Amino acid sequence: MTYQQLKAEEQQYVMNTYGRFPIALDHGQGATLWDVEGKKYIDLTSGIGVCSVGYNNEALVDAIAAQAHKLMHVSNLFLTAPMVQTAKTLVQATGMAKVFFANSGAESNEGAIKLARKYSFDKYGKGRSKIVTLKNSFHGRTVTTLNATGQEKFHNYFFPFTEGFDYAEAGNLADVQAKAGDDACAIMMELIQGEGGVLPLDKDFVQAVEAFCRERDLLLIIDEVQTGIGRTGTLFCFQQYGIRPDVVTTAKGIAGGLPMGAVIAAQSCCDVLGPGTHATTFGGTPTCCAAANAVLDIVNRPEFLRSVAEKGEYLKKGLAALHSDKIQGVRGQGLMLGVIVDPDARGALVNECLEKGVLVLTAGANAIRLLPPLTITYEEMDEALAILKTVF
Ligand SMILES: *Cc1c(COP(=O)(O)O)cnc(C)c1O
Repeated sequence: MTYQQLKAEEQQYVMNTYGRFPIALDHGQGATLWDVEGKKYIDLTSGIGVCSVGYNNEALVDAIAAQAHKLMHVSNLFLTAPMVQTAKTLVQATGMAKVFFANSGAESNEGAIKLARKYSFDKYGKGRSKIVTLKNSFHGRTVTTLNATGQEKFHNYFFPFTEGFDYAEAGNLADVQAKAGDDACAIMMELIQGEGGVLPLDKDFVQAVEAFCRERDLLLIIDEVQTGIGRTGTLFCFQQYGIRPDVVTTAKGIAGGLPMGAVIAAQSCCDVLGPGTHATTFGGTPTCCAAANAVLDIVNRPEFLRSVAEKGEYLKKGLAALHSDKIQGVRGQGLMLGVIVDPDARGALVNECLEKGVLVLTAGANAIRLLPPLTITYEEMDEALAILKTVF
């Protein structure tokens, strides 16, 4: 089918919830994609940070196929080896204690929110349920995580939202303390705000928030749904901030393209969610865990993580070398970059990139967001930069 034929049927049969780019993708290899008409693109989106080891990655595809042949799903009423292995790898790589598996970022954050509220309830009883998040944050699209998200535009239509969230200004410790008041149980934040515009938090601020959490026995929840699994040049971004979170959530890139999320808890709170308090049918299903194990085998190595940081620097330098007055700056870390442009020009720039064969994302008001597969090659980056040169 051509794009036009697919588009016509999509409009007839699919809910109109997404502003999609005007192409239909067919297949991919590495960081390169082809649409149904055979046009080629260098992909700087990786399915919004999901296809962390690229398209048609042999080790990943083989691991999924082998596990699907063996045992696709059994529910959490039974134990499987791939699930235990994924948990063990995540715990050993983070110095944290135990893992709960979910199926998406929002669901992982829901798990973290439940964990924080029960931690406080078990210790202090009712009345300490508030979770402070940051302005400009993004934590998901469920009725709870929409309200955890510190952006007004997400607090519409679906009333009543889950209560118990307040929003502090990023970088402002006094505001965090004021918003926490005396009825909070946790502070939840992204270290580089992704959807909000690729906005890195200041290290001193993050360490001060950690100290405040310790002083008041609040759980420090770090949302690494986007920053996790090697994206910023360390397995998790918190490892660059010199902090020890109580809870880390992750999802997007963990299974390289299959839906999966995880709530990783430190010793402080890893036994809060006991039997019957939290569950999900698909969580930790062996096929997704086999995929995660293949992804982690590739990503969780010092030389691979170093290569992500180096590629990020290469892209930053390449963008600076364009000497374009349309680029006002580049923010971010590793292969999570925001190219700052004039908000009024952004739409046209993104469309021109697409027409010329580079796929990019947007974030916040003024960022063009780049989240390429972590395995992108220097040839692919050069090809993308050559096209970006003609656009910028
Ligand atoms: C994408 C994202 C989410 C939501 O993840 P879903 O898998 O879409 O539910 C939550 N937090 C952050 C930081 C994200 O980037």
